[in-house]
Amino acid sequence: MNETKDLIINDQWIVSHRGDKNSVDPRRPYAWIVEKERTVNGSIEDTAIIFLTNRECSFHCLMCDLWKNTTDITVPAGAIPEQIEWALERMPGAKHLKLYNSGSFFDGRAIPEEDYPRIASLVSHFETVIVESHPKLIGERCLSFRDMLKPLLHVALGLETVNTDLLLRLNKKMTLQDFAHSVSFLKSNEILTRAFVLLRPPFLTEQEGIYWAERSLDFAFRIGVECCTVIPVREGNGAMDHLMEQGHFSKPDIRSLEAVLEYGIGLNSGRVFADLWDLNLFSTCPKCFDRRAERMNHMNLNQVISAPVECTCSQ
Ligand code: SF4
Ligand SMILES: [Zn+2]
Repeated sequence: MNETKDLIINDQWIVSHRGDKNSVDPRRPYAWIVEKERTVNGSIEDTAIIFLTNRECSFHCLMCDLWKNTTDITVPAGAIPEQIEWALERMPGAKHLKLYNSGSFFDGRAIPEEDYPRIASLVSHFETVIVESHPKLIGERCLSFRDMLKPLLHVALGLETVNTDLLLRLNKKMTLQDFAHSVSFLKSNEILTRAFVLLRPPFLTEQEGIYWAERSLDFAFRIGVECCTVIPVREGNGAMDHLMEQGHFSKPDIRSLEAVLEYGIGLNSGRVFADLWDLNLFSTCPKCFDRRAERMNHMNLNQVISAPVECTCSQ
């Protein structure tokens, strides 16, 4: 990768490269889906995901495009429960629910704390509720929400990478100690953590991308994370497109995602998933794409390493 030491990556630089946000309604989630997921108990069950519309995350991570479906100001009290109710009325039943809010559930400017009791009541029939948060926002609010919930609470945190120079450049505003501290806090309060790990953030070669994703999985499990999701990094948020044009970022290859998934499952330390959304972005070989997608889906659900895909692109 080209020399980039003189490139200052901060909030201002990242935000200045953005395009427009999508138009969103503060009283409606911007999406919802139901998909199969391997649970902590080893069964494969339906998991619903509601993508809540709320105020933009106050962090500005380099690779993040979640701001696209957010509002500029805090949504009114009552809007988040209304979104959840609206989605639940329309979606097929599921045992588990992810409430993903393009930021941190425990950011009081994103999800008003006064809405917690109604949210807890609306989701009381699920077995598990999973929310996402920046590690620095883990604290008493998690416990307050957990205490209102009938389902078990799991929290998803972005670890991103254990390459500390790179973590700084991602503008995550977090150290590995911050991350470990949050995992330990959650664990001591009987809340399971899942970590998001990036495959090939900018400034890395393909091989370095694999190497750091694998070291990140090692670290996550060593400090007590229960589940990891590996996310192949993509362009599309302005800043990443700029880095791509300048030769500082290339998308990872689908085969690297398979390799990291195999590595993670082989650790036998907890669940490891490959994020398969928009998977076609990472394939340049139409001959084997469907088979690779199917293989990773099978590995996600069964947590065993399946037979490799044979193709001329692997030779
Ligand atoms: S903390 Fe999460 S949602 Fe917020 S900018 Fe970073 S990656 Fe995006
Ligand atoms: Zn191929």
